[in-house]
Amino acid sequence: MVSHILVVEDEERLAQLLKLELEYEGYTITVANDGLSGLSAAREAEPDMILLDWMLPGLSGIEICKRLRTTGCKAPIILLTAKDEVSDRVTGLDAGADDYIVKPFSVEELLARVRANLRRTQEQDTETLQFEDLRLNRSSREVFRGSRRIELTAKEFDLLEYLLAHPRQVMTRDQILERVWGYDFMGDSNIIEVYVRYLRLKLEAEQESRLIQTVRGVGYVIRSES
Ligand code: CA
Repeated sequence: MVSHILVVEDEERLAQLLKLELEYEGYTITVANDGLSGLSAAREAEPDMILLDWMLPGLSGIEICKRLRTTGCKAPIILLTAKDEVSDRVTGLDAGADDYIVKPFSVEELLARVRANLRRTQEQDTETLQFEDLRLNRSSREVFRGSRRIELTAKEFDLLEYLLAHPRQVMTRDQILERVWGYDFMGDSNIIEVYVRYLRLKLEAEQESRLIQTVRGVGYVIRSES
């Protein structure tokens, strides 16, 4: 699955460099250049990780961090800071940041921190996703309907994993395309319908009930038939 990273950085050249480097690594990137737009982007886009500059116009990185944590945001936050006194690092960690990186930093160092923090949260995620009699194991990549084992292709698995991770929540076609196929997917967006059809054929091969529902004009949702 494609991880979505929000970069909040007011130095536009640095923001642009981070965007290019992270996109090159296959991440989807949103950039905000000041504190307030950073905070609203974090709330709206629900990124998997936030790279947050400390000194920002509007709201400081520390303030954003505190506000996000009090409203339940669990995405890992890496603070980018020009300050490197120990007391400042403690302030950042107290505010709810997971990690910090001191400017100037090398791209390699940043990428290593990004990977480490994403890996840690992904491991914390539940290994098994389940909805009614449908079970998906993320590490063995096995899918079962009751006791029946279902063979899926890699993309079918990714699509089902994404939908199952958000039960009863309607995922829009844009969200699905971006998360399962990647931000730079240029093909036909009917690809989602095609894959949903494959998945339904496999999940309902023994006349089981439908669990992937179409929400016309919007997208798809995992829920029981009503
Ligand atoms: Ca700054």
